[in-house]
Amino acid sequence: MSAARLKKLGREISACQRCPELIEWCARAGREKRRAHADYNYWAGPVPGFGDPAAPLLILGLAPGAHGANRTGRLFTGDRSGDFLFAGLHRAGFANQAESLEPGDGLELSGAWISAALRCAPPGNKPTREQINTCLPFVERELNAMPNVRVILCLGGIAWNAALKLMAERACPMPRPRPRFGHGVELQLPASATDKGAGLAPPLLIGSYHVSQQNTFTGRMRPEMLDAVLQRCREVCALPPVEITNG
Ligand code: SF4
Repeated sequence: MSAARLKKLGREISACQRCPELIEWCARAGREKRRAHADYNYWAGPVPGFGDPAAPLLILGLAPGAHGANRTGRLFTGDRSGDFLFAGLHRAGFANQAESLEPGDGLELSGAWISAALRCAPPGNKPTREQINTCLPFVERELNAMPNVRVILCLGGIAWNAALKLMAERACPMPRPRPRFGHGVELQLPASATDKGAGLAPPLLIGSYHVSQQNTFTGRMRPEMLDAVLQRCREVCALPPVEITNG
């Protein structure tokens, strides 16, 4: 059921045209290309989520990279951010391999679904608030199709704020001031009256520095830091712990 709904939603995302300036930006990146990918047939459009439809963990990124996911058509796939993330997901037992090169490369996720606040690559990796607000309902619909999600791992402050907005729209009571993003910060919001009546609890939000080169090349985000948050995700999701040998 979840798988069919997510597949249908993925097709809808791929065909979305709501932000003409972003659609044009994606297409332009696909025309101009990067020299290293001159022969690659860029996806050059909105990128759907992917992973395990029954996952208890939803990983929320920022947006496709112009020459990564916008090239390959799969989130976090084909650039350095993805190299860092998938190596960590493999160490933590969420991925069957450490590399994510392109669709058809054999990558399979277990227990994790990858999503993003924005599905089109934004200029300079800097989406506007309006663009995020326009695109965020896609994540909401993914969550609605995934009843098992217990944790949203927010990669970076923009994803954290996007997750807070999603929870506010679910009518979860929101503390004032709004809880601030930080690496390893956790936030369990109370359930809305409706969710409480149905015996549902909102997912735990966990913050993590983003896996962008800006963070990983400077040492702000190190492999062992990613390992720690992913292990915490496993714990909250009641998944068996995985021994990490080369973090
Ligand atoms: S950013 Fe989101 S809402 Fe805007 S065109 Fe892309 S997929 Fe559609």
